[in-house]
Amino acid sequence: MALLVHKYGGTSVGSIERINAVADRIIQTVQQGHQLVVVVSAMSGETNRLINLATQLDNRPSSRELDVLMTTGEQVTASLLSIALVSRGYSAISLIADQVGIKTSSHFGKARIQSVNSDILKEHIEHGRIVIAAGFQGRDEENNITTLGRGGTDTSAVAIAAAIGAEECLIFTDVEGVYTTDPRIEPKAKKLDSISFEEMIEFRQSWGKSAPEALGGVSG
Ligand code: ASP
Ligand code: MG
Repeated sequence: MALLVHKYGGTSVGSIERINAVADRIIQTVQQGHQLVVVVSAMSGETNRLINLATQLDNRPSSRELDVLMTTGEQVTASLLSIALVSRGYSAISLIADQVGIKTSSHFGKARIQSVNSDILKEHIEHGRIVIAAGFQGRDEENNITTLGRGGTDTSAVAIAAAIGAEECLIFTDVEGVYTTDPRIEPKAKKLDSISFEEMIEFRQSWGKSAPEALGGVSG
């Protein structure tokens, strides 16, 4: 039995059919005897849709409010996936950033994770629950909702994996692995053979872009 973290990006959870397929995969993993924390992105296109709504009201929307808005995408996916698992008779619980205890800096749109409360996650796991955590988000010291930069669910997954001492953090995504830089932009990007949780968090947070900077650049 191993403690695992699996991350599913926007395309993997982009429709009800796909969410059902993810639920099947989670159940297979659990049936193999593993304990699992699943970290999810918003359904593909959802984050861009939300930003678009805000920019129809203000072409430079308040970054604090944009973070409140954008985090709803991940919340929707987390609850839908949990509903799918519960409907199959599994014990699952969705949690948003505050409930996971993800503390961040106050840089709206590109906050850095400062700590994750592993006790909360471990307690749910010990009760036999499959935890579905909403990615991409945190809370700052003043209890404001923050986001981690576009594509930030990877960062959430790796930070959660490090905090709970997971044996593995598996990222289901449409690129082949972790590259030195974005392979869609830089042809010289090199794929890394291995990377530690700590290096991955540092690496990821150093190139995280805020939502307005990356608008349109990320599929979700
Ligand atoms: N939904 C957010 C985005 O599209 C975060 C993520 O997908 O990782 O950037
Ligand atoms: Mg996305």
